[in-house]
Amino acid sequence: MLVVMQAGATETQVERVIDKLVMMGFTVHRSTGVTHTVLGGVGPQEQFDPREFEALDGVKECHPIVSPYKLANKSFRPQGTEITVRGVRIGGPEVVVMAGPCSIENRDQIELSAEIVAKAGAKGIRGGAFKPRSSPYSFQGLGEEGLKMIRAAADRQGLFVVSEVMEKSQIGVMCEYSDVLQVGARNMQNFNLLRELGTIRKPILLKRGIAATIEELLLSAEYIMSGGNYDVILCERGIRTFETATRNTFDVSAIPVLHGLTHLPVAADPSHGVGKRNLVAPMARAAVAAGTDMLLIEVHHDPDHALSDGAQSLFPEQFVELMEQLRGIAKAVGRGL
Ligand code: PEP
Ligand code: MN
Repeated sequence: MLVVMQAGATETQVERVIDKLVMMGFTVHRSTGVTHTVLGGVGPQEQFDPREFEALDGVKECHPIVSPYKLANKSFRPQGTEITVRGVRIGGPEVVVMAGPCSIENRDQIELSAEIVAKAGAKGIRGGAFKPRSSPYSFQGLGEEGLKMIRAAADRQGLFVVSEVMEKSQIGVMCEYSDVLQVGARNMQNFNLLRELGTIRKPILLKRGIAATIEELLLSAEYIMSGGNYDVILCERGIRTFETATRNTFDVSAIPVLHGLTHLPVAADPSHGVGKRNLVAPMARAAVAAGTDMLLIEVHHDPDHALSDGAQSLFPEQFVELMEQLRGIAKAVGRGL
């Protein structure tokens, strides 16, 4: 259930409502907006009468949240969620681009990647150190050594770092080096991992599973948020359909659909969405036009020799050109980039 406090409600009034919710068995999540404080009570939904709360001092309104996801629901934070990572605002007026190779391969590669993407205007660098590969014989990533390399390269260029966490045991080391922890498509419903990520205080980039509905994506976000970590960015990265012309089917419509359902920032990953270099730029442009808050683009200094996802990685000069185009599109839809 949702209790919306009146503008200017006092802390004592808010606390009285929280106490009542707790006494009734609800777990309380608090969202402090510019004008209103909203209290999300998660628990025995049936056992209350909204009027009991509306009669309390300082309460504006109270109503049940009928959707299965409560904290990810737009009504919990109608003003939207903005996440600040090393001074970069995600979910704010500017579209944020993070780019880089699929995998961290060696020191020179990641240093060069950081330089290329920073110069072109990206704010974050991506690169996997723990790689979820379809084949056990493919390159699996450099692990902690790779994380050290990407951290150093990012610091030299003033970028934030996004890297994937594949299992619970990696969370500690990931938190040491990465600013945003990515949950890959294959792990979107690894509920033990999601619960554990709810206990940390680092932003999570949650990718949509290859066969997941939008509601399932939001429920996975709810797993993280119900642990108290509200900094979740949802990422459309293509879903599996009957279509074989592209690696996945990039669901551009998921971007405005998500904006209608949730307050969380929305990211788009056209690289994995289409899997083919020549299609990445058109889909990146479409994603910005559709209202994405963030873009994730795979870029490699030498894609033909990349250890993973070379076929969908842009050449540096293609990335520079794309960034230029994206600035124009962002402007046309009232955003910066
Ligand atoms: C990646 O970002 O390199 C990756 C493996 O993504 P996904 O989980 O979307 O396949
Ligand atoms: Mn990849």
